[in-house]
Amino acid sequence: MFTTSRQLLLNAQKKGYAVPAFNVENMEMAMAVIKIANEMKSPVIIQTTPSTLNYASPKTYQSIVKAIAEEVDIPVALHLDHGSSFELAVKTIKEGYTSVMIDGSHYSFEENVRLTKRVVDVGKACNIPIEAELGKVGGKEDDLDGGDGNKNTDPLEALEFVKRTDVDFLAIAIGTSHGLYKGTPNIDIKRLKEIRKTVDVPLVLHGTSGVDGEIVQQCVKAGMCKVNYATELRVAYSNGVKEVFADNQDVYDPKVYGRVAMEKVENVVRKNISYCFSENKA
Ligand SMILES: [Zn+2]
Repeated sequence: MFTTSRQLLLNAQKKGYAVPAFNVENMEMAMAVIKIANEMKSPVIIQTTPSTLNYASPKTYQSIVKAIAEEVDIPVALHLDHGSSFELAVKTIKEGYTSVMIDGSHYSFEENVRLTKRVVDVGKACNIPIEAELGKVGGKEDDLDGGDGNKNTDPLEALEFVKRTDVDFLAIAIGTSHGLYKGTPNIDIKRLKEIRKTVDVPLVLHGTSGVDGEIVQQCVKAGMCKVNYATELRVAYSNGVKEVFADNQDVYDPKVYGRVAMEKVENVVRKNISYCFSENKA
């Protein structure tokens, strides 16, 4: 079932679990994610970054994900991750994305409010929920470069931001980082709890690949309602392909390494759904 993410996150918020959101790059990754979410009866969000949308068009990903989603009973939403401009946000909505993030976190507070509000107005008119980010989740992923310094979200700023933008979901910075971690991330659960007390919209955790499962579970219990995974799936998919060619250089059928790569992704998805407590919540 192909649907928007709003009710999925509101249900998660009410019942104390998170909806896992997995970044995909191709049909195989989308198939692997939806297959496991369906087996585990978990609601799921598939998402693509602007860099992924330079690889293939929004319509291409929308058609693939919608087709796979319509073959299963669990709710599947398709989300623009780190939308980089008003224009891209509108384009993905036009092409049938069911959920959109606009990321103005690298701008000033006022500029972030202005940009987010513009996209929220379009979202409201089209009944598409909008996610924004306040504070800065650092690290590097695709052409998104958050730099080295994270700026953790201030609870009172978060309250003002949500009031002024009327945004549906808020991504907050509490110490996670995009890409591969160099050391152990220092996650500020206390700050998360404060923000959860201050604002009532569902909260989103970015940069979760490589964060210890137990910490993710603590974040979910403390109020994270959407948990994003990108790097871990890319690594898993690529490792599957590498393994096949390490064994046999002569393979030329993409289905052969595609199957192995999908299995690797499936294992990552299975593990992370369990951290989100979303099994049997579809
Ligand atoms: Zn992110």
